[in-house]
Order: sequence, then structure tokens, then C-alpha cells
Amino acid sequence: MKTQTHVITAVPIGLALSYSYSLPMTGTIVAATIVGAVIPDIPTVAQYLTDIVKHRPPFSTEKEGTVWFITKDISHSPLLWILPLLVYFFFPLNAEVALIVAGTACGIFSHWLIDAFTHCGEEFKNTDQSLLWPFHSGKPGQIPKLGYLFGKYFVGWEYRYNYKIGEDLSNTKPFEKIWQATMLALSIILFLIYLYK
Ligand SMILES: [Zn+2]
Repeated sequence: MKTQTHVITAVPIGLALSYSYSLPMTGTIVAATIVGAVIPDIPTVAQYLTDIVKHRPPFSTEKEGTVWFITKDISHSPLLWILPLLVYFFFPLNAEVALIVAGTACGIFSHWLIDAFTHCGEEFKNTDQSLLWPFHSGKPGQIPKLGYLFGKYFVGWEYRYNYKIGEDLSNTKPFEKIWQATMLALSIILFLIYLYK
């Protein structure tokens, strides 16, 4: 889904994670979760801005194997949430740092999971992240990209319209708008529960 949707989704996750902690810690955990949810899309946002600065349609030069693509594949790797979780469980960290690590890992995981369910459009197959770096080789006959596996054998939904290069990319599909509204409502409910607990 869109980066702003990942941010909105991170808020209730951060609030739920911080339920047993006091107010200053709540802010820190929610912020860590939001940062985690944004990290995987940093290369995509940078690529978008570079295309705008260079006066070309966003993502018009996107191709598998380019630096942008490899960076995006790495930032969407499961290692990005597995490694911080290993640190959380196996390294002696002080309580505050441990919560920041856990919040960031949960934010990254939520991004990875949402992308696995929402990137399955055939039209984007060549330029989508595999969500399995470094285990996805990209060669025919080997492990397919995770989003397409989900779309084919499980549940998958394509969050983008089938844009032609140079078209307006700002449109959001109705389901994603409903998702955003639900996450916002959930955040408000969790915040109220938190205030009155
Ligand atoms: Zn993403």
C-alpha cells in the first residue's frame, strides 16, 4: 500500500505495544513503530523525488537489476525485521532501547506483511520488490516474488491502478481509503482506552 497507509497502520500497532508503559514511553514506541513502517519505502520515495527533480515521469526508468531496484529489494527484505527481533530476544539491552528495537521491528514487519498482501498485479511483476531478498534470485523457475505467491495461492490484492507511465499516481483505491479510516478509528479507540485504563 501507499507509504502514508503504512504510517497510519503503525500507529495502532505502536499504541497496542506500549499499552503497559507510561506516557513518555508510549510516544517513543509509537514513533519507533512509525519509523520502522517508513524504512522499507525510503528508496521508493527517493526514486520518486529524483524522477521529479530530473523532470521525468515518476518510476519511468524503473527496471529490475538497477541500483534503485536492488536498494528497494533490500529495504523490503524479511531480514530487516528478523535481525532486530533476534537482537531484541538474544541481546541484553536496557528496557528503553529494547522497546525501541521492538517497535521498529514491528513497524518494518507490518510494512513487509501489508506489501505481501497488496503487491500482486501482473502489470507490476517486473518492477516489484521480491519481499524475499536475498533468497529470491529473480531467475525464471526459481522462487517467485512473495506478493505473487500470495495473490496466486492465497489472498492478494493489488493496491495500484494499472498506470501508464507519466499518469497521475496520487489516486487511492476505495479499499485502501477504508483501511486508512479503520486504522485511524482503531488508533483513536486504543488511545482512549490508554487514557482511561
Ligand atoms: Zn513497501
